[in-house]
Amino acid sequence: MTGRILIVDDRVANLGVLEAKLVSEYFDVTTATSGQKALDLVNQQPPDIILLDVMMPDMDGYKVCEILKKNPQTAHIPVIMVTALGDIKDRIRGLQAGADEFLTKPVNDLQLFSRVRSLIRLKVLMDSLKVQRMASSGLGIPEEQLVAFPTDDQVHGVRIACLIEDDLLREKIETFLKADKHNLSFFSRVESFVQVLDTRKYDMALLPLTFRGEETLRLCSQVRSRQATRHLPIVMIAQESQEKALAKALDIGVNDYLVEPIEPNELRLRIRTQAKRLLYQKLLRLSHEKSMDLSLTDELTKLYNRRYFNAHLDALLQMESKQGGASCLMVIDIDHFKSINDTFGHDQGDKVLVEVARLLQTNTRDSDLVARLGGEEFVVVVDNATLGTGLRIAERLRRTVENKSFPLIQGGTMNLSISIGITVSLVGNTTFTRDQMLKAADIALYQAKHAGRNRTVVGYSESEKAVAV
Ligand SMILES: [Mg+2]
Repeated sequence: MTGRILIVDDRVANLGVLEAKLVSEYFDVTTATSGQKALDLVNQQPPDIILLDVMMPDMDGYKVCEILKKNPQTAHIPVIMVTALGDIKDRIRGLQAGADEFLTKPVNDLQLFSRVRSLIRLKVLMDSLKVQRMASSGLGIPEEQLVAFPTDDQVHGVRIACLIEDDLLREKIETFLKADKHNLSFFSRVESFVQVLDTRKYDMALLPLTFRGEETLRLCSQVRSRQATRHLPIVMIAQESQEKALAKALDIGVNDYLVEPIEPNELRLRIRTQAKRLLYQKLLRLSHEKSMDLSLTDELTKLYNRRYFNAHLDALLQMESKQGGASCLMVIDIDHFKSINDTFGHDQGDKVLVEVARLLQTNTRDSDLVARLGGEEFVVVVDNATLGTGLRIAERLRRTVENKSFPLIQGGTMNLSISIGITVSLVGNTTFTRDQMLKAADIALYQAKHAGRNRTVVGYSESEKAVAV
């Protein structure tokens, strides 16, 4: 996963060190040497994440962070404060200014990369929700109030499931979080903790990195892979010495962590930050659902229709041309569909369409868009994906349909296949338009049909800048 990172530091030498490290991991890096320059850059082209020096003349890092977090347009961009100060008071001050994480100079590579990746993942999710919003406003659906990033007083009574066995730690957590009136539930069986979270009765999970002598990484990855808990914030409690395991935990998708001994204010602020992000996601989703119109979905398959797809892809491409990044478009057609209708009747044809729609939907990510263009033709938009990723997903979809037995109304089953034309939105520095992408994917689909069906073919948009990838 790549991302755009803005590094802010008044000392050019510091900038160079961080920039070199991040560029070597293929991040796209811009730099600023003062708080004001950073704010200007963020307004011109918002990055995915900001690494912010604390001690700077004129405007210090706390002030910059406060300004960013007060502006609804920039409040959701994660900020990592890079500081020479190890003092807990300074960390609290940073968290109060809205910082998402701290790194202490000299910066430890492992922490830097795992932190950056985990925060970028979150940002990508937020952006996909924003694209949905932009798409609905592009359709002329009345724009409601811009969804603002939640404030402190909007988050209380967070339902937290804690996997804690140690009575002393349990009491500590209860005492520390008492003032915020959260609903704490304690569990002491690692085996059933995933099931507990599956009930959707909790907003957050708090657990130690080691429970009864065993690392809880497997548990976290289970939580991440399940539909009900895919976006559930996980906060971990770790020991100073567990750095490697902690980096792994963040890679798996753990959202935040505290190092023992736990500092009361830090715990409160970190829980609050996670709760605010969760609420923000919920508000964006709700706002999207509210503004959605039935005329944007296909009655038979319940997928989005062509009208919504058009607006969605336009919004996505607009965001990409501003922020960078690429996405893939697949045009999918059921092979020999006409003969299904002719042989078994239209009711059978409709059943097949519904089932194929379901297979496409369940085998793509939440942030991907699946729509029915009409007849037996579908599209899938895979956002934030290279052609390689798109191709893997396309082949997975093709095989899924190929291996599925479709029940016949008259009894028995039948097999069928799909052909896929796929293209990517970005080649070199050129971001293509919706029409260019559709045309390229259509031509590729035609080639797939011509070459014998049941296959995926890549097509490139026509452009003088286009080159083979
Ligand atoms: Mg400095």
